[in-house]
Amino acid sequence: MTTVGFIGLGIMGAPMAANLAGAGYRVLGYNRSEAAVRKLAEQGGQAAGSVAEAVREADIVLTMLPDSPDVAEVVQGPDGVLANAKDGTLLIDCSTIRPDVSRELAEAGARSGVRVVDAPVSGGEQGAIDGALSIMVGGAEADVEAARPVLETVGKTVVHVGPAGSGQTVKAANQLIVAGTIELVAESIVFLEAHGVDTEAAVKVLAGGLAGNAILDRKAAGMLNREFTPGFRLELHHKDLGIAQAAARDAGVPLPLGSVVSQLVAALVARGDGGLDHSGLLKLADELSGKPNRS
Ligand code: NAD
Repeated sequence: MTTVGFIGLGIMGAPMAANLAGAGYRVLGYNRSEAAVRKLAEQGGQAAGSVAEAVREADIVLTMLPDSPDVAEVVQGPDGVLANAKDGTLLIDCSTIRPDVSRELAEAGARSGVRVVDAPVSGGEQGAIDGALSIMVGGAEADVEAARPVLETVGKTVVHVGPAGSGQTVKAANQLIVAGTIELVAESIVFLEAHGVDTEAAVKVLAGGLAGNAILDRKAAGMLNREFTPGFRLELHHKDLGIAQAAARDAGVPLPLGSVVSQLVAALVARGDGGLDHSGLLKLADELSGKPNRS
């Protein structure tokens, strides 16, 4: 039986770990807050009291943590993954972090006998619950193939996109597209409401044409009700747009539209709305049109 050490049992990690346990993997789960570990133990996993405990017996370690410093600490820290993993362990980092940090982790892993792939995901909490995530994987061919059975348990579309760090670069592009699309859907809702259009009917017909997209399909209904429970928090999207901006700067590529939406997300986070779902961009669109009471 393959043993998976799973670190980071939050909105995404908890259902991913539960799906792995449900598929017959032995899952040793660790999270900073204990309640999440207890919940995994009720769902067929086993509780680990530290990173070291989750990792020592693992053939595969999966991390699903918020940001680059969290992953760097958990992986490279004195009590971290590299210090405790068996020789030849495969580390799959599913967090969304900076591509340069993923490349550094792959190099540090190679020095410690740990194979590392970056495998950020898209599909949100529901995709994680359904085991239907889209996963963009960076790393050496053989390591990505070794990671595939685990990734195909938590995801439906698993694509090797290039060497270490490439998964994160593709994920940054994903986050640009998602933020830009949410903003355009939000502006369209405000525009349609200002004209007194039946917005539910409008969303239905728009979703069937060239303007159709996953935000209209999955988020527009909640947006029409001004329901912004996360899902994916604005503060995490703020982090991701920072990653995209920095990576674009490294490559000498401007992101004009992406920069505008980055600033709108930054404004929402700065004023304390970072805990809302990223569809909360509509709240700002309402206010910019003088309709603050809609949200
Ligand atoms: P989250 O904040 O719900 O979960 C992160 C978990 O990691 C928390 O339970 C936290 O307690 C734990 N944690 C943090 N530092 C730790 C440490 N040092 N040791 C052990 N546990 C620690 O976040 P999330 O929404 O699950 O997102 C995780 C990652 O996945 C992020 O990089 C995010 O950008 C990405 N992501 C999220 C979504 C989404 O819809 N929520 C979708 C795709 C990708």
